[in-house]
Amino acid sequence: MKTLKDFNFKKKKVLIRVDFNVPLNDAHQVTDDTRIRAVKPTLIKILEDGGSCILMSHLGRPKNREDEFSLKHVVNKVSEIIGVQIKFVTDCIGSKAEEAASKLLPGEILLLENLRYYPEETEGDSDFAKKLASLGDFYVNDAFGTAHRAHASTAIIADFFPGSKCFGTLLEREIESINKVLKDNQKPVTAIIGGAKVSSKITIIENILDKIDHLIVGGGMAFTFVKALGGKIGNSLVEEDKMDLALSILEQAKQKNVKIHLPVDAVIADSFSENANTKESPIDAIPDGWMGLDSGQKTNAHFAGIIRESKTILWNGPVGVFEMKPFSHGTISMGIAIAEATKNGCFSLVGGGDSVSAVKQFGLENKVSYVSTGGGAMLEMLEGKTLPGIAAILD
Ligand code: AMP
Repeated sequence: MKTLKDFNFKKKKVLIRVDFNVPLNDAHQVTDDTRIRAVKPTLIKILEDGGSCILMSHLGRPKNREDEFSLKHVVNKVSEIIGVQIKFVTDCIGSKAEEAASKLLPGEILLLENLRYYPEETEGDSDFAKKLASLGDFYVNDAFGTAHRAHASTAIIADFFPGSKCFGTLLEREIESINKVLKDNQKPVTAIIGGAKVSSKITIIENILDKIDHLIVGGGMAFTFVKALGGKIGNSLVEEDKMDLALSILEQAKQKNVKIHLPVDAVIADSFSENANTKESPIDAIPDGWMGLDSGQKTNAHFAGIIRESKTILWNGPVGVFEMKPFSHGTISMGIAIAEATKNGCFSLVGGGDSVSAVKQFGLENKVSYVSTGGGAMLEMLEGKTLPGIAAILD
């Protein structure tokens, strides 16, 4: 795997695909700069070598070059974070972009206008990729959030840089983290899969069963398992058509010697609301008219025990409706247990969706080993798919 460390960028103009698709408020100010901070090490390495950086990104889903999607809105924030005044050009291909790129000096950074102002970007158009490629003499992909897309700037462009392309530091860390969980892992390995539905997590579970020792199933999806096993789940979330699949997962796990842990109790509510009446119930005896919205105290203690014994942890999906305070305790307890295990030397990866929002919301972001920056991309990696943005660099 070629990474930045394998190259010296002196006098090189390096085209870097970054993910500056950041949230903006009504005044067009960046409200979460995580993705900008994430690429800083890549940019600093290139500048310190004596190279220059040409940054390419998308922002939102423009239809008609709407001003609100212009990357000019992020220039100040990027300059502030990187510590260098960023130059900006109002196009990403054509004469203006070519002129700005040709004038770029070592130590300077140029940001191109939103790639998605051109439909050719998402179409993966080869001519468009070639025009982008003509702006630089080396290609770096550091946009994990779009690595699962075969777009012009994330994958197709790499064809124009044989021998002159590599991963950025962020992509390298993402790949390393997932490898630490699914390939070069230390046992016992525990995966916690939660969230709303079995159907959206089934491919992940099937892909990881060979690689793990414990599977904790939590959140809404656990009720499909409980009902399939004959439990009474009241009005809890269920996918009736996935009950056979749930039984088949239990069987596969048994054959592969993976211990599956289902919740034993739940916090139940009489409506899907923050103000609902609540009480605790055994997981398989939930009265009609009530629904399980969080894991119960016995479950939390049991799950924390498994986590404490683990050397490697993957967490994907909350174990309750953590967005509502009364149903957030299970997910918080899970986060705290993972943070403690991490402190004791376990490697923990949080990735692919809402568990990332949960660790951020509960201030546990810096207490786990790695929080993935790419929702969809991480999900596809966990499903065992080869991402086009990664394959294009490895070619
Ligand atoms: P996912 O995107 O599949 O990881 O699902 C995350 C969502 O699952 C979150 O918005 C949670 O509120 C929701 N969720 C977790 N537990 C439950 C539950 N017991 N009932 C309904 N929704 C749940």
